[in-house]
Amino acid sequence: MYTNGFDALRSKQTCPNDFKNTPLTMKISPPSSFHVMTKPRGAICNLDCKYCYFLKKESLYPDSDFKMSEATLDAHTQQYIEAQGVPEVTFAWQGGEPTLMGLDFFKQAIALQKKYRRPSMQIHNALQTNGTTLDGDWCKFFKQHNFLIGLSLDGPQHLHDAYRVDKGGQPSFDKVMAGLGLLKIHQVEFNILTTVHEANADQPLDVYRFMRDEVGTQFIQFIPIVERKNQSGHQEGYQVTKRSLTGKKYGQFLITIFDEWVRRDVGRVFVQIFDVALGVWSGQPASLCIFGETCGTALAMEHNGDLYSCDHYVEPRHFLGNIREQNMLEIVAGPQQVRFGLDKRDTLPRYCQECNVRFVCNGGCPKNRIRRSPHGEEGLNYLCEGYKSFFSHIDEPMKIMARLLHMKRPPAEIMLMGGKFNSKRSRS
Ligand code: SF4
Ligand code: SF4
Repeated sequence: MYTNGFDALRSKQTCPNDFKNTPLTMKISPPSSFHVMTKPRGAICNLDCKYCYFLKKESLYPDSDFKMSEATLDAHTQQYIEAQGVPEVTFAWQGGEPTLMGLDFFKQAIALQKKYRRPSMQIHNALQTNGTTLDGDWCKFFKQHNFLIGLSLDGPQHLHDAYRVDKGGQPSFDKVMAGLGLLKIHQVEFNILTTVHEANADQPLDVYRFMRDEVGTQFIQFIPIVERKNQSGHQEGYQVTKRSLTGKKYGQFLITIFDEWVRRDVGRVFVQIFDVALGVWSGQPASLCIFGETCGTALAMEHNGDLYSCDHYVEPRHFLGNIREQNMLEIVAGPQQVRFGLDKRDTLPRYCQECNVRFVCNGGCPKNRIRRSPHGEEGLNYLCEGYKSFFSHIDEPMKIMARLLHMKRPPAEIMLMGGKFNSKRSRS
């Protein structure tokens, strides 16, 4: 359906809206599928990226060795596979830095997946890494088992190294590029995950062209940095750090890249937010949780089996249970998680409900709803200005590409128009 089939597998977190429009008073049936972002090494990482939201989570487990045990891996693999009512399952590995578990851990993970998979079930693995620990053995393993690698890279050297440094404050760019080279040599499939922040937000074309022309990636995800200023590392407080970009800058960043992409790269380079938007303009539900009406089916699991509502809410208030003590599916279908998912819709301010791009934005991720609307209502997304301008800007070209898809023609035909469409009008 989308320009490339850049689907749930490629999305950092997806939310198929299984709880959509379900009043809490009705009997809740378990979701047919859900995603768990698994952190076998917890928050432990060899880098010290200045904007990382996860490093502080180390303090949640003061006496831990931060290594997932074989028994927890076994329980996770069995329960996760059993809980999925669909024929495809994706194991998503993240951290911290998951490769710090060592290769033997992942060999064991593959063995357990083979043990527990149902006949005809397809199992996929996706792993997010900073790339600095990769070597030939890792890459051969990834290739052999078809891992999809998400590599964190923020742009050319001077932009990447602004915040992505090691524990000694030294830059990481050269090591990441060496890891990238190995992934390419071994033909491992990879996406680039680029955070957008104060240091690179003003140079959208430098970032995009670097990824397209020098990195040679076909798949890019942009992740806006909205980092709360507090000591706890939890989602609390209303101030953001200086590294956070403004909504306005995020909008300009996306618009600038979209304008280049839609004139020359459609069908060749896949930018996640453009793909998600095209899906929505084509009449599909948003394939990424942040733009879904509800969420709640993209959870996070710590190294000891503790499940939390979401990767961005690994904090005591959003602790759901431990899979060694309670079955994963029961936890996921329990009232706390259902409420979490529905709150995304039920707390949407009136300003969003009346907004002309609500159909694609849905108020964005709750973690960023820290502003007041012009009516004074709480819960407006910090990035609102950017979302409004970006989604309004792409309305006309999206309608054209959606019509092409409807006629079973490639959206890339829009490039034949030479940019002769109005990309400023809002959806009426
Ligand atoms: S809180 Fe945000 S990132 Fe987490 S599942 Fe909901 S929309 Fe997705
Ligand atoms: S653009 Fe702003 S007002 Fe509109 S739905 Fe998104 S966050 Fe709400």
